[in-house]
Amino acid sequence: MSQTLIEKYVMPNYGRYDFWPERGLGTYVWDRDGRKYLDFAGGVAVCPVGHCHPEVVEAIQTQAATLIHISNWYCIRQQGELAEMLVEKVMGIPGKCFFSNSGAEANEGLIKLARRFGTTRPKADGSPRFEIITCTGSFHGRTFATMTATAQEKIHGGFGPLLPGFKYIPFNDVEALKAAVNENTVGILFEPVQGESGVNVATPEFLRAAAALRDQHDLLLLLDEVQCGLGRTGEPGGWRSIIPGDEILPDAISWAKSIGSGYALGSFWTRDRAIGPEPDAVRLCNLLGAGSHGTTYGGSPLACATAMATLKVILRDGLIARSKEMGERIVKEVASWNLPAITATRGFGFMLGFELNTHLIEAREDFKASGKLPSIWVTQLLMDAGLLVVPAGPKVIRWLAPMNTSDARQRRASAS
Ligand code: PLP
Repeated sequence: MSQTLIEKYVMPNYGRYDFWPERGLGTYVWDRDGRKYLDFAGGVAVCPVGHCHPEVVEAIQTQAATLIHISNWYCIRQQGELAEMLVEKVMGIPGKCFFSNSGAEANEGLIKLARRFGTTRPKADGSPRFEIITCTGSFHGRTFATMTATAQEKIHGGFGPLLPGFKYIPFNDVEALKAAVNENTVGILFEPVQGESGVNVATPEFLRAAAALRDQHDLLLLLDEVQCGLGRTGEPGGWRSIIPGDEILPDAISWAKSIGSGYALGSFWTRDRAIGPEPDAVRLCNLLGAGSHGTTYGGSPLACATAMATLKVILRDGLIARSKEMGERIVKEVASWNLPAITATRGFGFMLGFELNTHLIEAREDFKASGKLPSIWVTQLLMDAGLLVVPAGPKVIRWLAPMNTSDARQRRASAS
């Protein structure tokens, strides 16, 4: 009956699994028949403290009974408090935040910031710089600009002509990155750990080259940490899992997913740095001035209260360090099994990708009969066994478990 309703009334843009979750608690989800699943999909990296964490639920209930929404024309106290947490406790680099509703919108903000920057710091002839370099295998969202920024043909298919002003290079190709910079370039945008295309980690060389080109050519270094940010990779900033500390200072970072424990919220941070020569320089974090950008819902009291409760648990319970430790242990443990079905393990913390041995899978009659991609076929098998994971590209399985997943649950997942 319900499936009929989805088929009849909901657009068919998702290739859905025939799986009907009804409730969740911690690392578990129950389906409509009462069957229990270990959830290592986490709403695709959305539930860092598990489903319905009591402190998050309480924050939502209290705030919902006090003030759900109020216009961004007014001063929303919770935005200031959440931004302070993000700047001081997560980034540790001076800057300011904007609040949106989703990851794509957060990335739209980065793109608008870059365009504004290109107008403020134009070419020698006074015309704006506008080109942003992005990478193959990226995923930045489904709005028009973020879809165009996403360097994957399968995402673009049937929506052309795309937005001008994006240049694609192969991920981690330093020479291609250098060659792509021209007088129109205004920024370099990438995910330090690519999620959707298979948990591909940026190399330290690539990160360093991007930062050096930024300095050399007066560009912006824009990091999409919608999936890899906020501690999931074992560092407060995803890029710091690759190069720790402050060697690399990004100019702007986008977040979503984990930030709101599933309540719709996105954000981007911009660094407090001078644009152009002092003393008259504008600050980058003030570039999007009054009237330049906005949203009705983004950063509502309810969204911010939910995010603060989530971040409070992450920081208080040491879940970032825990992600790092658990990730290292899982990678080591899985490697020790020498599973013929897994050819490589990538990622950090609770953002791990297991690459499948497609030759082994493709030789199986039951796989051939399924007509599915290897990653989707294995995801279904694991689901049938009671473990939820996420496919990433055709041959990678992602684990995006809650950052407070216990060792016991970890062992149970390993056993299945
Ligand atoms: N950026 C990255 C790295 C993502 O993984 C996603 C979603 O998967 C997005 C952007 C888009 O976020 P949203 O779906 O919240 O718009």
